[in-house]
Amino acid sequence: MKVLIGTSEIAPYSKTGGLADMTAALGKYLGAAGVRVGVVTPLYSGILERDVAIHSTERLMKVQLGSGIEEGRIYECEASDNLTIYFVDHQHFYRRGGIYGEADMSYPDNAQRFLFLSKVILELSRQLPWRPDLVHLHDWQVAMFPVLLQNERQAGRYLLPPKTLLTIHNLAFQGIFSPDLLRWANLPWTYFHFQGLEYYGQLNFLKAGIVYADYLNTVSPSYADEILTRDHGCGLEGALNERSERLIGILNGVDYAEWKTTDNPYLEYSFSPGKLSGKAKEKQRLQRDLGLEVDPQIPLFGNISRLVEQKGIALMAEALRQGLLHSMQFVLLGSGEKDLEAVVVDLAESFPGRVHIRIGYDVAWSHRIEAACDFYLMPSLYEPCGLNQLYSMRYGTIPIVHAVGGLSDSVIDETQDADRATGIKFEEFTSAAVLEGIFRALELFGDADRLQAYRRRAMAVDYSWSAVAQSYLDYYRRILEAR
Ligand code: ADP
Repeated sequence: MKVLIGTSEIAPYSKTGGLADMTAALGKYLGAAGVRVGVVTPLYSGILERDVAIHSTERLMKVQLGSGIEEGRIYECEASDNLTIYFVDHQHFYRRGGIYGEADMSYPDNAQRFLFLSKVILELSRQLPWRPDLVHLHDWQVAMFPVLLQNERQAGRYLLPPKTLLTIHNLAFQGIFSPDLLRWANLPWTYFHFQGLEYYGQLNFLKAGIVYADYLNTVSPSYADEILTRDHGCGLEGALNERSERLIGILNGVDYAEWKTTDNPYLEYSFSPGKLSGKAKEKQRLQRDLGLEVDPQIPLFGNISRLVEQKGIALMAEALRQGLLHSMQFVLLGSGEKDLEAVVVDLAESFPGRVHIRIGYDVAWSHRIEAACDFYLMPSLYEPCGLNQLYSMRYGTIPIVHAVGGLSDSVIDETQDADRATGIKFEEFTSAAVLEGIFRALELFGDADRLQAYRRRAMAVDYSWSAVAQSYLDYYRRILEAR
């Protein structure tokens, strides 16, 4: 099987969130399973400098963008077995300070930037000597691909077109633009209607993908159900319900080659389910390095996230103000919206020596915090999959989660199954519910044997990518076999 993946992010080259981890792992593990895989992604600033294996090629993609022709040179890198990454170079579109914008402002030409990417993917899918059977698109940035392909096919310019699959990583980001930007797509206005690209008078890239892709999926089974409802459908529940028979959920996996508790370059101590002393030492090291009181008897809670409303940061801070009246510590690593940064910095100022806030994005610290903490708080309003609860479990750090989306699918609460419990779940999206979760954690912390059992079970849970890649392979087969 031959699959071309289109994405605006791929780790470690470009990343703003879980999408980058997912596309990197998907490519790698599909390749390892014997699939011929190509990934098409922009060559952003700094990428060439970080990997000498990326080299320029003779491939120059010329695509029509509005009334002009834009050119993108393809750079290539053989990333792993059967996996080639095709980086699209376009000085003006991609060699910038950010991926989607700078200083909290989206770039005003994002529609053009990502239509260009979608058109290059189309061109490449046509020109590659190994013709992809299927093009797997990720999120709104490349969601116009299926309609561009359909238009080419109908015009007789694309014989034997590949099948298309669109993965929705977060329905809240849709790529909504003024309808006059449709001219950059060079599509006829006949596509601009209620059952096509139109969305409340605007042009909606994600909706285009939902309507025109052959098949759809999201990154957890629960989220696949939730987005069909008014509460979580972000205005697209109608379009999604039309296609619900072609929509499934596949939970993301973890790249355990990176998220590991032994031989981890970011950790000083190794640990395993049978030998947790290294985890205690990581906790001690973190407490010391962050200026928290060094004491194994004080439960340490953590959170690593983008500081945005979705992650329930304000709710969490409110609950922590109560929780911190008891013996506990809290450490947070994150960056994002300024008002939420202020909320957590304020919390640290109220509890000196007990709360540490690290504003920024830092992979090394994210591993250290996951390893050191006793509990991981994840009170997201919604969570398509969520990765940190999966990392937490592998690191023996008990997740406390709002029971939605991928959090609901991956964490088992005692009330569901006492013998298999791996974390703490709460149902309501309120600070009182988060606080209740914190109290349950404090109680668990007070019972060393029970805590140990939770940790061992959580660490033994297997969300490896090889199994996830197999699920995608099964789905690809189903798609290719369908008429
Ligand atoms: P989302 O994609 O909504 O941001 P996920 O949980 O799916 O949420 O993925 C977030 C990813 O980004 C995880 O790998 C997480 O560790 C990482 N991450 C988020 N914020 C930071 C940060 N400040 N520093 C380091 N890694 C971070």
